[in-house]
Amino acid sequence: MQTLILTKPGELVLADTLEPAAPGAGEARVRVRCSGVCGTDLHAFAGNQPFFTYPRIPGHELGVEVVAVGAAVTNVRAGDHCAVEPYLSCGHCIACRRGRTNCCETLRVLGVHVDGGWRDEIIVPAAKLHASAKLTFEQLALVETLGIGAHAVARSAPEQGESTLVVGAGPIGLAVAQFAVEAGARVTVLDVSESRRAFAAGWLGVNALEARGLTADGLRAALGGELPTLVFDATGNPAAMRQAFLWPAQGGRIVMASLVQGEIAFDDPNFHRRELTVHATRNSTAVEFRRIIGLIESGKIDTKPWVTHRAPLADVPKIFASWTRPETGVIKAMIGL
Ligand SMILES: [Zn+2]
Ligand SMILES: [Zn+2]
Repeated sequence: MQTLILTKPGELVLADTLEPAAPGAGEARVRVRCSGVCGTDLHAFAGNQPFFTYPRIPGHELGVEVVAVGAAVTNVRAGDHCAVEPYLSCGHCIACRRGRTNCCETLRVLGVHVDGGWRDEIIVPAAKLHASAKLTFEQLALVETLGIGAHAVARSAPEQGESTLVVGAGPIGLAVAQFAVEAGARVTVLDVSESRRAFAAGWLGVNALEARGLTADGLRAALGGELPTLVFDATGNPAAMRQAFLWPAQGGRIVMASLVQGEIAFDDPNFHRRELTVHATRNSTAVEFRRIIGLIESGKIDTKPWVTHRAPLADVPKIFASWTRPETGVIKAMIGL
């Protein structure tokens, strides 16, 4: 079967590999029908994703069709169309016991720590499959991306009408903004790219401001005299993450949705003076997968603008580098299988 392997940074090869064996107890064998390309994959290709090792079959945003199930599987059956929750959690560590499976002590993410779904078929734990009779395979593959935004927003539980700033309007920032809007927050997006600002404003109806040269006073003025009480960083940029400590109003909170190598420093008197709360956010949970599927099924979350680029698996090695360049305008590229 066809398989894409990231052998080392910058080298993505199409290989012919053996089909998986029959699924064991609690497992399902699935046909991968669609897979999204994520910032994680782009960073792994560039060699700067902190959790990634090589060689690796990437692919953690998956829309799949169940081919066969092993013993004791009751939640899905052959023919079901599913999203895959790619977070393989242990089930017994302190995080798992408290429902925080997304940050399990020994978490392994498909396509990051273990081989993922950029191949025709894969074996997954059936409990990680979330079926929908309505969603397309592209929509099912998008659920993981949307989960990043949904979980980040859930971490901070916005109030109705709360003034909320999302810094960075790439895919993570857009997912965050989409769920912040859904939660009833009053959302302003900051980005340096005019096309990304226009995209966010046009699609989500959010306020969008030029990030370059903006000061806290400038932001305060642009928002009618008060700083936002909730700030999301989705920049992947250490300088912007430091700057994030200057955006919230007194008593505000920050959710760090982006992940960078190294340390982020902040000015402690500023942090204390404002009595800030800082949240990390990582992945999402099964409950959030089900909720997102429901929101797409009911039309409350619009997925149409998400997918900007598409390619069949065999074409990906020659196209992939172009998806890493911002000027290609990629929001989400989808690999069809
Ligand atoms: Zn992803
Ligand atoms: Zn665990």
